Amino acid sequence: MPELPEVETIVRSLQKTVIGQRIVRVVVEWPPMVQRSPLNVLTELPGQRIQEVHRRGKYIVFSLSTGAVLLIHLKMSGRVYVCAADAPPDPYVRVTFGLEDGREMRFRDPRKFGRVYLAPDASRVLGHLGPEPLDEHFTEEMFLVRINGRRGMIKPLLMDQSFLAGVGNIYADEALFQARIRPRRRAETLSEEEKRALYRAIQRVLIRSIELNGATLADGMYQGGSFQNDFCVYSREGQPCPTCGSPIERIKIGQRSSYFCPTCQT
Ligand SMILES: [Zn+2]
Repeated sequence: MPELPEVETIVRSLQKTVIGQRIVRVVVEWPPMVQRSPLNVLTELPGQRIQEVHRRGKYIVFSLSTGAVLLIHLKMSGRVYVCAADAPPDPYVRVTFGLEDGREMRFRDPRKFGRVYLAPDASRVLGHLGPEPLDEHFTEEMFLVRINGRRGMIKPLLMDQSFLAGVGNIYADEALFQARIRPRRRAETLSEEEKRALYRAIQRVLIRSIELNGATLADGMYQGGSFQNDFCVYSREGQPCPTCGSPIERIKIGQRSSYFCPTCQT
């Protein structure tokens, strides 16, 4: 699933290609993808101009000329790209946004879990999200306040979008490795030093991944990034830990695989 760095990379690319464009046509090939939208994408979106594109958590947010917002969540396998309208048809495109200059912005999603929302304001869809981990106002002290008093396993907490926005399986595993904390540790057992190390590790892995345009995984759903070459633990079961050489272990937490070094992480 694309996480914060991958969505950030897509947003930076869209900022260069669609800002100022008017959306003239919308085609929905897979209606469940737009069913939970507060406003009707088919009737309310055409005619609106894209004024700005930014990211919030794992959402792509398009600010529109009427003050409304178009939001796209890529979920497991979504991708948004811009091409000429006469580019070859793509059977996995679920929603097409025709632009006034003749190009199309296509939302491609083989697994169909992605979602599109048109809302009068962003809070209707994004109101549940916790802080942005890279926001300059999100300080180490604020992270301490947020994590103090929280109970339960640390990894699911990091992936809880209402706790922190944008961190998923990859960056939770990599940050916990950098902070030398096992994914099954309970939040209430972390020392203040470990919490501070975790805050810095989250920032470090996200910033590094954005520099490398995110991570391209073997599933090929997201392409163009190279942070996968910097993975210390994620998807590296049985391979040596880059710090101590111990084989990386994989465990299941919920339905998701978690990777960690049994020696470096406690
Ligand atoms: Zn190790």
